[in-house]
Amino acid sequence: MKNYNDIESALIHGGIYGDEKTGAVNVPIYQTSTFEQPELGHNTGWEYSRTGNPTRAALEALIAELEGGTAGFAFGSGMAAITAVLSLFHTGDKILISSNVYGGTFRVLDKIFSNFGIGYSIEDTTDLEALDKKITPDVKAILIETPANPLLTITDLEGIADIAKRHNILSIADNTFMTPYLQRPIEQGIDIVVHSATKYLGGHSDLVAGLVVVHDKNLSERLAFIQNATGGVLGPFDSFLLIRGIKTLGVRLDRHVENAKKAAEFLKQHKAVKKVYYPGLPDAQGYEINKKQAKNGGAMLSFELYENYDIKKFFSSLKLIALAESLGGAESLICHPASMTHASIPYETRQKVGITDGLIRLSVGIESADDIIADLSRAIEESEVK
Ligand SMILES: *Cc1c(COP(=O)(O)O)cnc(C)c1O
Repeated sequence: MKNYNDIESALIHGGIYGDEKTGAVNVPIYQTSTFEQPELGHNTGWEYSRTGNPTRAALEALIAELEGGTAGFAFGSGMAAITAVLSLFHTGDKILISSNVYGGTFRVLDKIFSNFGIGYSIEDTTDLEALDKKITPDVKAILIETPANPLLTITDLEGIADIAKRHNILSIADNTFMTPYLQRPIEQGIDIVVHSATKYLGGHSDLVAGLVVVHDKNLSERLAFIQNATGGVLGPFDSFLLIRGIKTLGVRLDRHVENAKKAAEFLKQHKAVKKVYYPGLPDAQGYEINKKQAKNGGAMLSFELYENYDIKKFFSSLKLIALAESLGGAESLICHPASMTHASIPYETRQKVGITDGLIRLSVGIESADDIIADLSRAIEESEVK
């Protein structure tokens, strides 16, 4: 029986809490591949750790509860989670994807699933009316990110869920940037939520993991089958680390978001900055929609410097903020999407969707906001071409 109401408590007490046998407040790490069977034809409920492991099961129950789904599945990476979801489709099926999806999602569709005759097309999912007209009989799913990577474009979750329901196809949302603490797509009618738990859910840049959550029972059975059959599962130790990370998700994100707002405001008024992309700014694309479907604007932002600032010099002048792929860790991380996270997207496509060579993406950490801003300020100054 649940003895709490709010997600802040669910982060800590949700899923399977502690260990009944010993009273340990943490779920033990069941570091085992197999489970002894008491007699032929009977098992303890656990057989083999690819199929199911108690530590992983605690994590899976937790993420299902947090997202408002009925079943969760943990994988060895976000890409393994997305690959498992894409394994639901067949030759001849086509998937519509947001124009700013994660580079790896594009790559696995373009270079792997295309080999099995599963097609995709890149669409502006912010324009619901135009999107609706793109649903031909071969289209079997819409896969979106909101905010999308790296321009933080907002897509209307309810609108996407409505289109999918009307055409009897699946809606898939990658909720990595928001996490269930800020946004719960299943509550808005989305069928499948995927996560790179490597990011905010883990929260400490110390593990790589992926999660899937669904509400529908049939989908849950199909995904359980795919998870066991293809085998990209998360190990017990990483499952434990992820449960541990999720306990502090609320307090971490509160601080992440507070710092992101301050950094966005600082950049916005700076004479060197051409444009700031942050869904928490009232003049941002999709601001009202984001406000309707998410708690706030999150803690990811992107910006563009004017041409008379040297990008290379800017990155090398940063002393606190680390130049690295990934996001959502305690430390501030900065990257250059065109040459890093989105390098697998062809140059022409990048230009078309607005990922210019001057674009910088910042994952605002939980250090002092003043220190983050001071680092940005000095690096911008030092990068000015005089
Ligand atoms: C990082 C990321 C992924 C891929 O996850 P991995 O854990 O790196 O495999 C997928 N989607 C988004 C939005 C991401 O940021």
